[in-house]
Amino acid sequence: MPKTRNKCNVCGKIYPEGQGITLVVSDEVVTLHSRRCAVKFLKAIIDGLGPDVSREVVKKVKKEFEEIVSKQALKTSKKI
Ligand SMILES: [Zn+2]
Repeated sequence: MPKTRNKCNVCGKIYPEGQGITLVVSDEVVTLHSRRCAVKFLKAIIDGLGPDVSREVVKKVKKEFEEIVSKQALKTSKKI
């Protein structure tokens, strides 16, 4: 079976499938070879959305992660 190779959408680096980070948004597939490129890409998305839209999305996502973190904190404290 031939190995599928992905091309990083940020820096153009070719890397084997299974490595790196793949983002799928509807029918758009974004392939990113490293976390550094992923962060770069995500920052560009935030900039592209414009401050009004991105502010709302950022607030929502922050809240979602806060809930996950607080649930994890609860689990950890139960163990101790
Ligand atoms: Zn890259």
